[in-house]
Amino acid sequence: MCGAFDSAAEGRFLSMIIKMHSRCNINCTYCYMYNLGDDPSASLPKRLNLEAIDAVIASARREFEAGRMGTASFALHGGEPLLVGKTYMRQFLARVRDLAGDLPLKLTMQTNGLLLDDAWCDLMEEYRVSVGISLDLPDQHGRTQRLDFKGRDTYSRVIEAVKRFRERSCFAGVIMVASEFADGAAAVELLCGDLQVPWFDILIPDLTHDHIAGRTDWAETQRRLLAFYTSAFDTWAGKYAETIDCRLFDNLVSLHLGGNSSADAVGTPGFSAVILETDGSVELHDTLRICSGFDRRLFESVSDNVYSDVRDHEKYKQINSGDFPSAEACRNCDVQTLCQGGELAHRYSREKGFSNASVHCQLLYGLISHVGQWVRRELKVETLRRAPTGDFPPAAASVAAA
Ligand code: SF4
Repeated sequence: MCGAFDSAAEGRFLSMIIKMHSRCNINCTYCYMYNLGDDPSASLPKRLNLEAIDAVIASARREFEAGRMGTASFALHGGEPLLVGKTYMRQFLARVRDLAGDLPLKLTMQTNGLLLDDAWCDLMEEYRVSVGISLDLPDQHGRTQRLDFKGRDTYSRVIEAVKRFRERSCFAGVIMVASEFADGAAAVELLCGDLQVPWFDILIPDLTHDHIAGRTDWAETQRRLLAFYTSAFDTWAGKYAETIDCRLFDNLVSLHLGGNSSADAVGTPGFSAVILETDGSVELHDTLRICSGFDRRLFESVSDNVYSDVRDHEKYKQINSGDFPSAEACRNCDVQTLCQGGELAHRYSREKGFSNASVHCQLLYGLISHVGQWVRRELKVETLRRAPTGDFPPAAASVAAA
């Protein structure tokens, strides 16, 4: 069980998320780019300047030759990356492959799938780009939060795209965001049973303590999300784990067995990837957009020494240091070595910065405990790295609800 799209075995070296296009053709209500933070669309160029990639590849080559990087990993994102158009994308990919030469290169792309067609898949296969599609789950009323700009649900169009392109060799899998109003077992059956995707991940919703302040229903939301994830895990572990990879679940099992995590959601202090924006600037991971008042900017423009410059940057070192998380509740938590406070952005508040437990603390504690029990029971592993008690710790609970 090891993710083909983002493998735990590759470890957490610095990777680059390349913003191909700063706009999107849909308007998800939970989107951290446009609806939860500082909407960048007004100030950024629409498309990345082609020459910006030259410096990244020169720097990656230097890292590779110095033995600090095995494979250069570029994830093509947006907005919606396919908005750049096929002509531009072909020029970009040809330039990347040409400049990289014998440099080991892993190219992935995440799209909402609405513009995907056979010609796009031909292009992706020609340049060996693995394509992930973002999908959303319907709630109890059959609605999702992925709406186009006319307010129409995109769900059925994305399902059709997955069905149509899942046999293409460029298709890597599906990423969706968990919903407290959806059924986790049904979600896994959709992905693994109906759509037969080779790989998937279910992201934890992006929120900070500032977003949930004053929400008296937050503990109930956490309980619902935990029910969603535990039923999703049980279905995946019981029927599909041998053949279909899930980034979050694979990493949770790996952590319990003493391995590392390649998922930002759990078991890592910060974000290993940085962003190359369409204006050529370099920033910390853009999930941190939801952290109102936090400055993500590292460099105004990319240089051909960008990898070592980023690694030496105080902000990057700080968020990826083992000192995180610094919340008292996390330091005293019996799953701290596995959880590490969850995803960095989910720990943020304007008042305390990242020195909080995760807003999803209750979910994380419950899910880590649940997976630990499964590992002991099903894999017959008696001595886990650190056995959780299974009881949600009162200290952490009070922080998460604050
Ligand atoms: S207190 Fe909560 S957020 Fe912190 S390590 Fe424990 S489960 Fe994770």
